[in-house]
Amino acid sequence: MIVLRNISKIFKHGTDPITAVDDVNLSIEQGQIYGIIGYSGAGKSTLIRLLNGLEKPTSGTVTVNGQDISAARGETLRQARLKISMVFQHFNLLWSRTVSENIAFSMQIAGTPKAKINARVAELIDLVGLRGRENAYPSQLSGGQKQRVGIARALANNPDVLLCDEATSALDPQTTDQILDLLLDINRKFKLTIVLITHEMHVVRKICDRVAVMENGKVVEEGEVLNVFTHP
Ligand code: ADP
Ligand code: ADP
Repeated sequence: MIVLRNISKIFKHGTDPITAVDDVNLSIEQGQIYGIIGYSGAGKSTLIRLLNGLEKPTSGTVTVNGQDISAARGETLRQARLKISMVFQHFNLLWSRTVSENIAFSMQIAGTPKAKINARVAELIDLVGLRGRENAYPSQLSGGQKQRVGIARALANNPDVLLCDEATSALDPQTTDQILDLLLDINRKFKLTIVLITHEMHVVRKICDRVAVMENGKVVEEGEVLNVFTHP
């Protein structure tokens, strides 16, 4: 479970501070697919960086499964972050490495034994539907295939939470739906908590259980998707 309590993030620009996130309170249950939607500049990316400990809040606390990520530092933070994975809009794959090598990379960093890495890579290749493409380079893949690699890589260390930052925004509508189906499948299979930020209503409607609407750093609406998007 993820709990954000009175989270604010203020960036200081000389005399002109910017409040990117403004007193946000949210609870995300284990196993939920949780959407954070808002226009550009609403504070979504900052919020997701606070969730994975890349940014420290100016005030407030972020706890993930009881651990205070906002206070963690050094090795404690590094260990915690292994369990909070990211999927990116522009995939962030290593260009000079194959599909298998990209997926294996974070396990190598984590010091996983080679035999275990190979078995896990094979399992993940099957899970995301890339069998036959193991030795391809990212430049040889379609956008949807690149994102499948991004998702496999994110799952490598058995995370508790998957954070998706505009994960389908660079994809065409049909590929978007295929990637959303994959995320849904992973959520159901592993009861994995997924938090996704997006500016697309369609993405939230298709797979999210709950949604928070952000505007100017604040959560202006929050609830079950059907309730939030159905207005009289
Ligand atoms: P979104 O992801 O919804 O587009 P962001 O979180 O990127 O929103 O940005 C929210 C606000 O915070 C914007 O006004 C943005 O310019 C500002 N901001 C984000 N990151 C920084 C930063 N590192 N330094 C200064 N201002 C930032
Ligand atoms: P190495 O095997 O030497 O660690 P990398 O695979 O990290 O090399 O990167 C090889 C080259 O590709 C570098 O010049 C790097 O800047 C570039 N590169 C790797 N990943 C990306 C990416 N996601 N976007 C743009 N350039 C990248």
